[in-house]
Formats: sequence, C-alpha cells, structure tokens
Amino acid sequence: MSRFWSRLTHELHPYVPGEQPRMADLVKLNTNESPFGPSPRALEAIRGEATEALRLYPDPQATALRSALATYHEVSPEQVFVGNGSDEVLAHAFAALLKHDAPLLFPDITYSFYPVYCRLFGIDYQTVPLDQAMQIRLADYQRPAGAVIIPNPNAPTGIALSRSEIASLLEQHPDAPVVIDEAYVDFGAETAIPLVASHPNLLVVQTMSKSRALAGLRIGYAIGDAGLIEALTRVKDSFNSYPLGRPAQAGAIASLEDETYFQQSRARVIESREQLTRGLARLGFDVLPSFANFVFARHRAHQGAALAGELRRRAVIVRHFSAARISDHLRITVGTGQQIDRLLSALAEITGSNQA
Ligand code: PMP
Repeated sequence: MSRFWSRLTHELHPYVPGEQPRMADLVKLNTNESPFGPSPRALEAIRGEATEALRLYPDPQATALRSALATYHEVSPEQVFVGNGSDEVLAHAFAALLKHDAPLLFPDITYSFYPVYCRLFGIDYQTVPLDQAMQIRLADYQRPAGAVIIPNPNAPTGIALSRSEIASLLEQHPDAPVVIDEAYVDFGAETAIPLVASHPNLLVVQTMSKSRALAGLRIGYAIGDAGLIEALTRVKDSFNSYPLGRPAQAGAIASLEDETYFQQSRARVIESREQLTRGLARLGFDVLPSFANFVFARHRAHQGAALAGELRRRAVIVRHFSAARISDHLRITVGTGQQIDRLLSALAEITGSNQA
C-alpha cells in the first residue's frame, strides 16, 4: 500500500520498457533485440556454467571478463567496468559521476531512461533540443554544465556523431565528465574509445544486448580513465557486489572470442537495415539516416499512433513514443528479411499503398 512508500518512491517516474508480449506468430520489432541468436560459442560457455559450481558466488570483480574486454578494446583492465546490462552501468554512472551543482546536459529527444535516473538520484538536468533534422548540434552544448551524456548513435533517431565531433564536445567540457552511451555503435558508427587515452573525463558505455544478441544475459560495460572506473566501482560496491553471475561472465568472454560470428551478424543487420529503409521510403515514409539496429520513420500522411495500433492488430509490434516532437514517428527494429517483408506488407495494406 502506497502509504508505506518513501517520499522518493512517490516521486519516481519509472522507465517503461518495450513490451515482451506472448502472441503467436509475432513480428517483434519494438525493443532493438538482435534478430539473430548469440554466438554458438557463447551458448556453449553459458551451458558449461550450469554445474554444481553455481553454489559459489561469482568473481565480484569479473576479472577474466574485464581483462578480455581490455584486450579487445586495447585498454587496461583498470579502465574497464562491467555491470548487469548497460542500464545498470549507466545508473552507476549517474550516481557516481553525473551529479554536480551545474546541470547535466542531454538531448531533448534521447534515451528516455536518462530523466528517470535524474529523478532517482536527484540530479538537476537541462535538455538541449535537437535541430529540425533531429540532429545533435554541438554548438548548443557550449554552456555551463556539470556533466554531459549523449548516446551515439542517438536513440531513438539512430543518427550518429563522428569521433572528431565527440572530441570537440570533450574539448568544450574539459572539466566535466562526458558519458557517451554507445549501445548501438557496432552498427556503423565510430566508437569514442580511442579518445579515452587523452581524455580523463570521457566514459564510454557499451552493451552486449544488441550487436552480440545477448540482451537476455544482461552484460554492459564502461571504458574510461581508471579514476572514472574507480568511481563506478565505489558505487557498485555500495549497491551489489556480484552484478554478473557465472554464466553471464563466461558467455560474455566467449562472445568476445567469436569475432567472425560478431562481424557476420552485424553486417547482416546493416544490410537488412538498408532493405528496411528502402521499403519504408517506397511506402511514403521519411526515414532518418540510421547507424543503429533500428530506424526512426514518419509517414507523410498517417499518424504514428494509428499506424502502431494497426500494425499490432496484424501481430507486428513496433515502438511508438507519445512525446510531442516524435509522436508521428515509429521506431522499428531491424529484423530478419522475412520479418521486414511481413512489416512492409502490413504497412502497404494499412496505408493503401502499392509496395511495388
Ligand atoms: N542505452 C540505450 C541508448 C539503449 O537504447 C538501451 C536499450 N534500452 C540501453 C542503453 C540499455 O541496454 P542494456 O541494459 O540491455 O545494455
């Protein structure tokens, strides 16, 4: 009963994740999961952990995984932090690094978890509007800030900044922590990790949920200066010492070792994204240039909510946001060729267009 709730709990506005409906023959394009499975080597490693040894706690420092990530990204293990999905890594970053006297800056249209964390941790923030083309305009970030967080590519637009643009953002704010949330970077954008060596204020956050098809395993990580990583570790060890179980640590390491599978599946997603983009354009959608495993598109004649509802009636689920500037857009995850065909023929029927 809510009379037992703390005041903080009353004031929270929790994030609403995309639904996970159980419908037969569903085309699920709403939560940016990979349409392809994880590396078979990761699955084997996860199965290999289903033993008697599960009675023991996992390594609280995830030493082997951090060292595998360090090797993969050419940094040192002290520059790597791991958590239970990048949402948890981000939560720790908000608590450890993003709360200052001056406001935290992030785009007005971005990952909708950011304002949720601000409320949870009592962080003062200012949103910076995207321009007319839904792009981040770096000049607008030239203002006093306690910290900055930007997804690159941005979500839900899919539009990316180049590494040199991230470098200029870092130079604008040499005395403030800057977090770049690279959940979707593997689908064609440039990672900012090479900038970590020369920028002690940069924290790059990545996930194995999208390009490594391990959303169900919950693996996220951050790479940054050892000083920033120490801050995250202090918060983590004040919260949960064992965020990653044994199967998760082993599966993540095995996924990193299967570079061929990783390269193939991200190339397939990029290829399917082009097929999806062309198909939507033919049906009268304006599609933003995406560097992610989803596209953000608006039909020139039909409203977003109505389209999402009609698709749902046909067992095709996409994500629709009701926020003012984007309520006519749909965010559509790149699926398999077959899923894209189902989506496009449902949309052709709904919009009364000829797909040919
Ligand atoms: N950042 C962004 C921009 C995202 O869209 C998501 C996925 N909802 C995440 C982080 C979190 O992903 P995960 O917790 O699965 O790593």
